[in-house]
Amino acid sequence: MNIKNNINILTQNLAAGCRLIAVSKTKPVEMIQEAYDAGQRLFGENRVQELASKFDVLPKDIEWHMIGHLQSNKVKMMASFVHLIHSVDSVNLLAEIDRQAAKVGRKIQCLLQVHIAKEETKFGFSPEELQESFQQQAFDKFVNVQIVGLMGMATFTNDHDQVRSEFRSLRKLFDSLKTTSLPSNTSMKELSMGMSGDYKIAMEEGSTLIRVGSAIFGSR
Ligand SMILES: *Cc1c(COP(=O)(O)O)cnc(C)c1O
Repeated sequence: MNIKNNINILTQNLAAGCRLIAVSKTKPVEMIQEAYDAGQRLFGENRVQELASKFDVLPKDIEWHMIGHLQSNKVKMMASFVHLIHSVDSVNLLAEIDRQAAKVGRKIQCLLQVHIAKEETKFGFSPEELQESFQQQAFDKFVNVQIVGLMGMATFTNDHDQVRSEFRSLRKLFDSLKTTSLPSNTSMKELSMGMSGDYKIAMEEGSTLIRVGSAIFGSR
């Protein structure tokens, strides 16, 4: 794996307005440092412990993104430094992020994860649930978080049409929320979608953050 080369190619081919998150889960700090030396600054992890220990030893100008399913009791381990949590899939989790953010005197940026795939196993709000939650002002009271957009994962399939239609449905939800009156802690700026196998489609459908792991660091 030529990490530097992979980063360069991905970076050169980013759609306008889209940024690359290098997903470094399970990979050693030496490989992250190599990507850093190639100019990469946004990294994603899916386990809090691993995220915290990598944060400790790597350069402090890295933006750390939490992209994996998150248990409430782990939020405090990263509240002081996490840049953006992509995987907010319940009001309870948002409440805990709000609590921990207040403790460390920060506003933590979050994305609401939306279930767009056919698979049962993926976490997230359903589109209907999310729209209802906004209508019921369920997120308004969390003043120590900033909800900045949505995240979704497409079905793991070779059927590009299906992947595209799932990304498109998320983009439509994103756009429609944008036109509604959102609470002051919420804006629709970031649309996190696309992984190694489907980031090109995701960019065509309007992704602003692609989360790419194996296409940079090799298979896990
Ligand atoms: C692991 C992971 C990725 C990156 O997956 P690759 O297929 O290796 O690019 C992206 N998003 C989430 C939520 C992940 O857990």
